[in-house]
Amino acid sequence: MATFLKAAELVFFPSFCRLCGDLLVFHRERVVCRECLSGLEVRAFSFCSCCGRFHFSSAGPFLCGACTETTPPFSLHRSCGPYRGGLKDIILLLKFHGCAPLAGDLAVYACKCVKGEKNLWENVDVIVPVPLNRKKKRQRGYNQSGLVARALARRMVLPFRDRALRKIHHGPPQMGLEAEARLRNVRNEYVLSDRLSVRGKTILLVDDVFTTGATVTECSRILIQGGAKEVRALTLAQAL
Ligand SMILES: [Zn+2]
Ligand SMILES: [Zn+2]
Repeated sequence: MATFLKAAELVFFPSFCRLCGDLLVFHRERVVCRECLSGLEVRAFSFCSCCGRFHFSSAGPFLCGACTETTPPFSLHRSCGPYRGGLKDIILLLKFHGCAPLAGDLAVYACKCVKGEKNLWENVDVIVPVPLNRKKKRQRGYNQSGLVARALARRMVLPFRDRALRKIHHGPPQMGLEAEARLRNVRNEYVLSDRLSVRGKTILLVDDVFTTGATVTECSRILIQGGAKEVRALTLAQAL
């Protein structure tokens, strides 16, 4: 029956991959084809063992200058891949073009990249997404990081708390700002809205893109201040 329905769909409502333009022929393909999804670039650089910032020149794990100077409020952060090519296109489709089914595909991609990292997953009690403010969420219809985090929690069989954090106002856009200005920008933008769900817990904070780390740093600070035992962070992509 499923094959018949798929055949009918192909004839009457064909859809095409938003990245390569090929016809989507497989049952579970939505928006982007299997080929494009399996070809997404995976992190292949060395990175800071604490903040996870990619580094091109050093070999093997290292601690970056910033983490040597100041310990961030999260214990570690990992990005799955560089913010470019297909990965960037898919994140943009999810974020700005209403392609919500891609959240599930991105969760599969994230699992493929970091599932084996024991120090990221060990003893995680709950997964929490970086929130959007209410106006943006209403405009977009969803919080893209929330959808990815939910799908990730399902795959990793972990509890998910969508509303542990809340974004209370919308500061000026982060684009083009230096690291320090970004951190100032996000100060006081997030509040803890569900203290009970984070107190004493090891939290995995999930966001889409890591640029200077200001958002992840601020959200981690709020969670720790609210009584979380430890915060680790995972982002899909890191701006280079
Ligand atoms: Zn494709
Ligand atoms: Zn670092």
